Amino acid sequence: MSQRIWMNGRLVPADQAAVSVFDHGLLYGDGVFEGIRIYNGRIFKLRTHLLRLFASAKVIRLPIPYSLEALDAAVRETVAANEKLNGYVRLCVTRGSGTLGLNPFKCSDPTAFIIADSISLYPRELYETGMAVITAATMRNHPLALSPRVKSMNYLNNIMAKIEALDAGANEAVMLNHQGYVAECTGDNLFVVHHAAKGSSLATPPLHAGVLEGVTRGVVMDLAREMGMPVTCPDMTRHDLYVADEIFLTGTAAEVIAVTRVDNRPIGTGKPGAATARLTQAFRSFVENDAPED
Ligand code: PMP
Repeated sequence: MSQRIWMNGRLVPADQAAVSVFDHGLLYGDGVFEGIRIYNGRIFKLRTHLLRLFASAKVIRLPIPYSLEALDAAVRETVAANEKLNGYVRLCVTRGSGTLGLNPFKCSDPTAFIIADSISLYPRELYETGMAVITAATMRNHPLALSPRVKSMNYLNNIMAKIEALDAGANEAVMLNHQGYVAECTGDNLFVVHHAAKGSSLATPPLHAGVLEGVTRGVVMDLAREMGMPVTCPDMTRHDLYVADEIFLTGTAAEVIAVTRVDNRPIGTGKPGAATARLTQAFRSFVENDAPED
């Protein structure tokens, strides 16, 4: 079966799904998007993703020409048309075609498209062994330049950091913010685990550090609290990473993955830790069995 793309209201074959060279999404990265997982035929946290899409669009003054309900139906239609029981959806809304100048208000028709496909962010074996990361010299976008809370189509900041990781032989980079505090990775949020006699606790950078408010981050925070693990959001430095008992990353594409080395320092035992394993299991069970349709 050939892939079908939802493009501005209708399903078309993939080779007919094209955007104009005058689209400001292409010319300037001017647009917003979401990446969404499909688990066992259910579209995971679709409403939460759509709410974030509309919030991002509001911040950049991009009027999405569909209601949230219409996009909800369009995502379901695309997933069904491509017979995806498990996979990944990319939903994009660009500013649309305009003139070659920056003026976004000369773009009258936003372009919306939905791709239902699969994704594999990191090699499978790293989910067993854990992953080595580096901290990038490229800092995360300053929140006063472009807030990392906007999930925009302009990912050059993250791509620069990803290049640093790949050049260093790592799969992912930790990005610091303009103050030197830990923000997030190029496509995932970051969690630190502390062990204590009375149980483990989690820490993840606060939104004010300049991070995307990850949907997976939120799910993992809820699961951890249900499992009796307190979660806090303190400012953290690289020092806090180096001395952590465990570290893991979360994201729609990445899911939950242990980090076992940061800048060539082993984290904890140097192997994925017990709390990360418990949370990974809770996450799998939640997405595959328990997740409500929200
Ligand atoms: N941070 C960045 C920069 C990302 O691109 C992503 C992936 N969308 C995340 C964090 C994780 O967010 P989510 O769990 O919503 O996929």
